[in-house]
Amino acid sequence: MKKFLAIFFAKMAMFFSRTLKKGGGTALPGLIAQKIDKDILSKLVKNLKDGVVIITGTNGKTTTAKMACDILANAGLDIVSNQSGSNLSRGLISALIARSNLTGSTTKGDLAVFEIDEATMPEAVPMLSPRYIIVTNIFRDQLDRYGEVDKTAELIGNSLRTAPKDSTVILNADDPMVASLASYHENTAFFGLEDSGLKTESKLAIDNKDCLLCGAELDFEYRYFGHLGKYKCSSCTFKRPKPENTVYKAELNPENSIISLHTSKKENIDLTLSIPGVYNIYNALAATSLSSILGANSEQIKYGLENFTAAWGRMEKIQVKDKYIFLLLVKNPTGFNESLRSFINAKEKKNFLLALNDNFADGTDISWIWDSELELLKDKENSIICSGIRAEDMALRLKYAELDSKNIVIEKDLKKALDIGLSSVSTGETLYIFPTYTAMMEIRNVLVKAGYTEDFWQPPGA
Ligand SMILES: [Zn+2]
Repeated sequence: MKKFLAIFFAKMAMFFSRTLKKGGGTALPGLIAQKIDKDILSKLVKNLKDGVVIITGTNGKTTTAKMACDILANAGLDIVSNQSGSNLSRGLISALIARSNLTGSTTKGDLAVFEIDEATMPEAVPMLSPRYIIVTNIFRDQLDRYGEVDKTAELIGNSLRTAPKDSTVILNADDPMVASLASYHENTAFFGLEDSGLKTESKLAIDNKDCLLCGAELDFEYRYFGHLGKYKCSSCTFKRPKPENTVYKAELNPENSIISLHTSKKENIDLTLSIPGVYNIYNALAATSLSSILGANSEQIKYGLENFTAAWGRMEKIQVKDKYIFLLLVKNPTGFNESLRSFINAKEKKNFLLALNDNFADGTDISWIWDSELELLKDKENSIICSGIRAEDMALRLKYAELDSKNIVIEKDLKKALDIGLSSVSTGETLYIFPTYTAMMEIRNVLVKAGYTEDFWQPPGA
């Protein structure tokens, strides 16, 4: 009865918000339904043929989810997902109710894909009984948000114990924190990079080098970034598991990556991943590992990844008159470093704009720029404009990175900085912009006002 009432009132709310053309009607029906029946979500997802996928980890959740949804939709699956919005469960409840009959006995759709924060895993897993769980990586995020990384790993690990026995846990083999989670669940699949040409000598931004099973130090043969690489424990038998899903060849470019994938179905796929960075190669691998298990073939995987566009605001190319802007959102040093690394092979020097704000949504502590490998821009830069509230701090960081000071300009006003940046770029060329979150919003606003890009939908609560 509770389920019926929850669905009934939620559908009424949907009807009225549509009739009254009130925006933002995605969370409200879900909120109403949840108030009436707090178990409504777990009741509705039970109706889906292929069940629930949970994607968790520090970085790459949204991109991995979107890549997987693109590939699987292409493979003919009907997917319920909520790739936007601050309150995921309410948005998803709304989406599921819209597809359910009044009694809640049937829900149209094959699969639901959830992005779940690490901290929410202990509640989410028993509630959703997922058939698949992907763990992307475990990094130190913003220090004020989560405790130590090993605590995060333990939290996820314990939640895996509550997952159905026949579920599959898909893990990043290159992240020792994530790979060690295999000890919490019987049924696992691994993905990883197998191109040692991508290894880095950098010692920056290493979060963890101790074995989670015995506490001894891990020996790294090489690392791709942070603590991701080929490793084994110096004391116990723990070592990088051999992944079934791999990228065995990769070429990094400023705006894309050319990769060769090998899937657990033993298919080899050569493709151009439409977005740059080693990071996104991992996201593509995670998405491929899942899609391949769910029956997507190599053509569908290739099409999905070659035509992928990044989730809103994360990465975007915009034409401005006869020039281009390439926006790459910066959240933390590891992500920033990986974006920077895609410029290493660039033959011609580029123009950059680094926009650093320290508002709440950016993270108020900007000390992470000292963990970022801005040295990678040395000899790759024509000009670098430092902008945003903390422009001077960024300029100072660049000075320590020994970049040529005559190439560096400080302009705190983002609109002016954008003008200077664009004037430094020749016709047909691109200005590469690395903004923090609120700086990106400001830049987008400037571009919308000037008519260079369409007005954009803003995620609620952003
Ligand atoms: Zn060990």
